[in-house]
Amino acid sequence: MTVGTKEIVGILGRDIISVFYENNIVLSKEAYEYILEEKIDIEALRGYIEYLQEKNMHIAEKSSLLDIYLPKMKEKNFKFEKKETILDKITEEKIEVSIKSRDIPARDTDPEIKILKKIETDSEGNFEDFLETFRDRYEKISRIFRERVNIRDFQNISTIKKGENVKVVGMVRKKLNAKTKNVILTIEDFSGVTKVFISRKSSINTDMIFEDEVICVEGKCGGNIIYAQNIEFPDIPLVREVNRSEIDVYSVLISDLHVGSKMFLEKEFLRFLKWLNLKIGDEKQKHTASKIKYLIIAGDVIDGIGIYPNQKKDLEILSVYDQYKKLYELLSLVPDYIQIIISPGNHDVARPAIPQLPIPKEFAPDLYDMNNVLMVGNPAFFSVHNVKILVYHGDTIFDIIEKIRVPQSDVVSPMIQMLKKRHLGPMYGKKTGMIPERKDHLVIEEVPDVLHMGHVHVNGYTVYRGTTLINSGTWQAQTEYQVLRNMIPTPCRVPIFNLKTHKTMITNFG
Ligand code: FE
Ligand code: ZN
Repeated sequence: MTVGTKEIVGILGRDIISVFYENNIVLSKEAYEYILEEKIDIEALRGYIEYLQEKNMHIAEKSSLLDIYLPKMKEKNFKFEKKETILDKITEEKIEVSIKSRDIPARDTDPEIKILKKIETDSEGNFEDFLETFRDRYEKISRIFRERVNIRDFQNISTIKKGENVKVVGMVRKKLNAKTKNVILTIEDFSGVTKVFISRKSSINTDMIFEDEVICVEGKCGGNIIYAQNIEFPDIPLVREVNRSEIDVYSVLISDLHVGSKMFLEKEFLRFLKWLNLKIGDEKQKHTASKIKYLIIAGDVIDGIGIYPNQKKDLEILSVYDQYKKLYELLSLVPDYIQIIISPGNHDVARPAIPQLPIPKEFAPDLYDMNNVLMVGNPAFFSVHNVKILVYHGDTIFDIIEKIRVPQSDVVSPMIQMLKKRHLGPMYGKKTGMIPERKDHLVIEEVPDVLHMGHVHVNGYTVYRGTTLINSGTWQAQTEYQVLRNMIPTPCRVPIFNLKTHKTMITNFG
C-alpha cells in the first residue's frame, strides 16, 4: 500500500512541478506538499497559476493557495487555455540569416587550447595513498606561503620555543570548539605537532578554518601551544596581471545539462544552439554569437542512472549510452568552428569520486569522434587563447556552503573560499567522495584567470582579486528532490566570457 502510494506521488509530483515551472512560478515546499496531500487536480492548479499571474506573483506559497485561491475556486470554475509563450514565437525563426553570408570572426580564428595539468590516476586507495595526498598538499601549499613576503620566514613546528613570537605553517588536524567558545586547533607539519589556542575575544573568524587545510599561524608560544594572534590563508595575490586573448573571442560556459532527465530543458537548449548558429537573436546578440570560439561544459552532461534512489521515474532515457548519444546529437548542432571542452560531473559515468578522469570513450564514442570535442577530467586546468581556466564540477561546494553558513543561492562565496585556501575540497571526504592519489590534484597550484563550476544549478558570477568566478547554472528544471529541499535552480542562463576584456555577460534562454 505504502509503496504504491509513493509511486503515484512521484509521477504526480513531477507533473505538478512542471506545470508551475512552465509558467515561471516557483513552487514552495509547503505548497507542494499540500497539493500532494490533498491530491489537488492539475486542472484546478492551472486556475491557481492564472490567479498568481494576474496578481503578478512568482512564488506559489501555501498561504495564497489556502486562504485566497481555494475558497475562490469553490465559488467559480477557472478554465485554463494555454497561451502562446514568447518561446513559441521565437522558435518559429522569423528572422533567419544565412550563416554563410555573415562575417564570423570565430570561424576565421584558429583554436588555441593548451592543457596545463593532466590528472593521472595512480591510486590503489590504501592508507599510504592518503598519507601521500596530505604530504603533497602540505608541500604544495607551504610553497605558496613561501612566496608571500610577510610569511616566507615561517619556521618548523619542532623549533618553536616557549615565550617567543612564532610563525608556523601547518595542516589543521583537528578543530575543537570548546564550550567557552574558544577554539583549539591541532596543527602539524613534517617536523612536529602543536596545539593552537584561538580566544573567543580575538578577531579571527574561526568559522573559516576547516579541518585538513593548510594555514599559517602567528602568535606567542606557550610551550606545546601557540596563542594565536593572526591566521593567514595561502590565498591568491591581491594584484596581478591577468592573461588575455589578443583578439576579441568569447567562451561560453555551461554545466549540468542532465540530458536524459525528464526535466532536461531541451526546447530551451535548442534555442541556445540556434543562437550559436546565428539563427535567432537581434543584431547585437548575433554579433556576440559570431565571436564564440569555445563552449566549456563543467560536468553533469547527462543525468546518468542509479545516481539517487528511484531516479528511474525521473528519466526520459534509461541508458547512459543513449543519454550520451542524445548529447552527441545536440552537440553536433554546434557550429564546427566552436571548440567544445567537456569535463565530467557526479552524474556522468566517470568514477563517482573526485578527481575524475574524462568520460570513458566506450560510453560516448560519438563524442570522441567529433573533431571539435575535447574530453578532460574533473578538475581540469587548461588555457584557451592564453586565458587560464580551471574547470571543476563543484562536488565539494555544498560542504563549504554548510561550513561558512551562506544560503545555497550564494554560489560565489564558497568559490572565493576555494581560492583563499588554494584548494577545491579543503575538508577531506565529508559528503563528497574523494580518492586519495599520490598527488593532491585539488590544490590550486597556479592562479587561474577563470574558475568555472556547476553542480549547484544556480547561476552566479563575481571577480575576486582579478580571477573571474562563474557558476554556470543548469539546463534542468526544478526537480522534486530540489523542491523538497527548497532549492531553486536558475536554468538556461548562459554566461559568456570575453577572453580579451574578461567581461562576463549572462544571456537567458529560458
Ligand atoms: Fe547537476
Ligand atoms: Zn552535480
